[in-house]
Amino acid sequence: MKYIVVTGGVMSGLGKGITTASIGRILKSRGYSITAVKIDPYLNIDAGTMNPAQHGEVYVLSDGGEVDLDLGNYERFLDIELSSDHNITTGKVYRTVIDRERKGDFLGSTVQIIPHITDEIKASIGRAAGKPVENGTADICMVEVGGTVGDIESMPFLEAVRQMRGELPLQDMALIHVTLVPVDTMGDMKTKPTQHSVKALRELGLAPDIIVARSVRPMGEATKKKISAFCDVRQKAVISAATMPDIYQVPLELEREGLADVLTDHLGLERREADPAWYRTVMKEYTGRVTIGLVSKYGIEDVYISIKEALKHAGRALATEVQIRWIDAEHYTSADLEEVDGIVVPGGFGSRGIEGKIRAITHARENRVPFLGLCFGFQLAVIEYARGVLGIADAASEEFGSGTFVVAILPEQKGIDQLGGTMHLGNYPVMLEPDTLAGRLYGRTDILERHRHRYEVNPQFIPDLEKAGLVFSGHNGVRMEVCEITDHPFFLATQFHPEFNSRPAHPSPPFTGFVTACRERHGNGPQRERRG
Ligand code: GLN
Repeated sequence: MKYIVVTGGVMSGLGKGITTASIGRILKSRGYSITAVKIDPYLNIDAGTMNPAQHGEVYVLSDGGEVDLDLGNYERFLDIELSSDHNITTGKVYRTVIDRERKGDFLGSTVQIIPHITDEIKASIGRAAGKPVENGTADICMVEVGGTVGDIESMPFLEAVRQMRGELPLQDMALIHVTLVPVDTMGDMKTKPTQHSVKALRELGLAPDIIVARSVRPMGEATKKKISAFCDVRQKAVISAATMPDIYQVPLELEREGLADVLTDHLGLERREADPAWYRTVMKEYTGRVTIGLVSKYGIEDVYISIKEALKHAGRALATEVQIRWIDAEHYTSADLEEVDGIVVPGGFGSRGIEGKIRAITHARENRVPFLGLCFGFQLAVIEYARGVLGIADAASEEFGSGTFVVAILPEQKGIDQLGGTMHLGNYPVMLEPDTLAGRLYGRTDILERHRHRYEVNPQFIPDLEKAGLVFSGHNGVRMEVCEITDHPFFLATQFHPEFNSRPAHPSPPFTGFVTACRERHGNGPQRERRG
């Protein structure tokens, strides 16, 4: 097993996760099998209880792990399935060590950050790296250390990396430091922040083998030479990572910079030609464009990164550029809805913004606008139908506290008082009815999709909803999983989250169906004709 450790300097938000995923992709395109670990130096056990407006989307894995959104990037770029163990947090590490201390595992010793915490960090990395991906153990494990070098929180992790470097043969580990090269008011590219962050890394006993410098435009040889001289990294190993129009082009940019050979040489692996499949998937020409309205209470892209990517994957497969317009659930106007080719109501929690989301669903249903509801969006579509068609004016979810609960708490969720990791989480099978939109889109009747919810369609109301025309086209035997409206160009909602299974080369069927319908509407819709 070889390790590629990625650290970050200067500041957060440089796209370290995308860089890590892209480096993995470059090697995977050369036939190496890759796995990836994300280290998050916070005390939370997992991302499940964190506010997505602060930390971005909570990504859900097939095993039910609620993890950092970077694992979504790894799964999408590497086309693999990861597990909860691939997201190591300070919380998990300390919990394990403290549990062992209580059991008496360290009897007699003083339990300390070094060696006990650092040993556990190394063991966790090793365990995650060794977990089989695809057909067996990976050749290379990417390890992304979250945070910025110099943070107190990441110290024990960087210390563990330093120890690993001493313990492993030289060729078995590469250290890549991702930094920022800003442009000053004169338009010059500045290397000083990079020099300082490499210095901070060196103070911890770590010297980078490769520097990936993020910048708005490509960095020239003179700038690379300077970084090389000040940071003791060969000039060839100073890689320019200019901002790309699309994240999936980052591997191509790193390819052009020659990162693959530098890396394989360093790791003692043979140089290989890259399989062009990735290039073909991500560089498709667009022949049309659609605008999709995403109705939410957060106007922040990172909260819905998997939905955004799933729309992009489906769009690219259909040669359709998808533009997302964020529609603020609490403040939009009907004009906002009229300008879009389709409406998505994503997952969510709590009652803020629900009336706006329900109004958007009414608009989609009545005006035959393509609609895709995801998880909370599925529950709200059922509530909207109960109100608008069945005539239950106060139809609501138990989550909102009052009204007629056409959406109710799952029986097994009753009495759960702990919030972390207790939802109905991860992969569960869903059975689709063959002669339905859902059945046709998936082209099969048994599917496996990821879940994250506490509520379900209240079984008491199912017969009436069905009589009123709502089709439940997917279920798991007891719980309703998909609903659709027949007399509509595209009205589909899922209790599960299909966005987590979408990959650039295998778009998710509900998204493909939705974007197809949006494109048809864009071509034929009345307001499009008006606009000419
Ligand atoms: N809040 C809803 C539930 O818990 C929906 C969750 C979601 O959208 N992920 O069931």
